Amino acid sequence: MSTPLTSENLRLAPKVVLHDHLDGGLRPQTLIDLAKETGYDRLPSTDAGTLATWFRESANSGSLERYLETFAHTVGVMQTRDAITRIAAEAAEDLAADGVVYAEVRYAPEQSQQKGLGLDEIVEATQEGFALGASRAAADGRTIRVGTLLCGMRQADRSQEIAELAVRHRDSGVVGFDIAGPEAGFPPTRQIDTFEYLRQENMHFTIHAGESFGLPSVWEAVQRCGAERLGHGVRLADDVTVGEDGSVKLGEVASYVRDRRIALEMCPSSNLQTGAAKSLEEHPFPLLAAERFRVTVNTDNRLMSDCTVSSEFGLLVEAFGYGWEDVERFTLNAAKAAFIDYEDRRALIDDVLIPAYQALAGDGS
Ligand SMILES: [Zn+2]
Repeated sequence: MSTPLTSENLRLAPKVVLHDHLDGGLRPQTLIDLAKETGYDRLPSTDAGTLATWFRESANSGSLERYLETFAHTVGVMQTRDAITRIAAEAAEDLAADGVVYAEVRYAPEQSQQKGLGLDEIVEATQEGFALGASRAAADGRTIRVGTLLCGMRQADRSQEIAELAVRHRDSGVVGFDIAGPEAGFPPTRQIDTFEYLRQENMHFTIHAGESFGLPSVWEAVQRCGAERLGHGVRLADDVTVGEDGSVKLGEVASYVRDRRIALEMCPSSNLQTGAAKSLEEHPFPLLAAERFRVTVNTDNRLMSDCTVSSEFGLLVEAFGYGWEDVERFTLNAAKAAFIDYEDRRALIDDVLIPAYQALAGDGS
């Protein structure tokens, strides 16, 4: 018998998240505590409930630029070693409590230097936090592995430095690189030498593309920069035409992305908040999923979107009638696209995910 697809069972099911920002996932109370400890006095409220609402409402404004403004506060408290370690530890615990077994959490080290921390120190503090969070989760009976992606900011010129930092820490938990920040006016080709460098170093990277800016941004990320995955990639749907008879035709960019199995790190709630999709009904997720793109389900910013990985799955299940086999497919898509070794991906898929989803779907005994 199949297990009912309820929100609680979705939470218990093992999941993989590839696109989750550390500075977008703080607990509201932690933000308040750290603001007090570190002398940050610009928080809009010191009441956890009011603050959580403020973040959600600001992020709901419909513009990516205003959405990014909310990060001034979270980044504002991520300026000491202890604060960073605490935030990373809690992120691992929160993800594990939501049933995430493998997470890639990303952050931009250059944003934590307002009080003079060094880049390597920031990476070490973060890794220490994830290890601590994973061991606390293990003590609670939950297994989570966290890999990190270091982000360069599109509007800054420090990508090369951050890419070198990622390569330097590749054996201590950093699994890849990304560029984040405003897409319009800052095409990924601005950092083309950095992507060339990363390829020469055999380092994995993803690129935020096709969120607030259209198909040319996706094309540049894939064809000129060599992105292995796309952050959002929502606008790829511009290259997919659905005829009146329901027939679907892919343009060249969309075909290439599908053929090469380039994963799309989709974040439904975030896409609605930034206006990348007008409504869940109009979100290209179901179209791209039906056409067998390698779609994955992600949170982006758990604080701003007031979401978890399982609640994002819940939204899709509710809107599009997905069953366990779909939840499994999207999860396997994410595991296949993870920036960890092939053997580790196989172990995750064969030993953890497939047996769990077989049991949920009621296959076998
Ligand atoms: Zn993002």
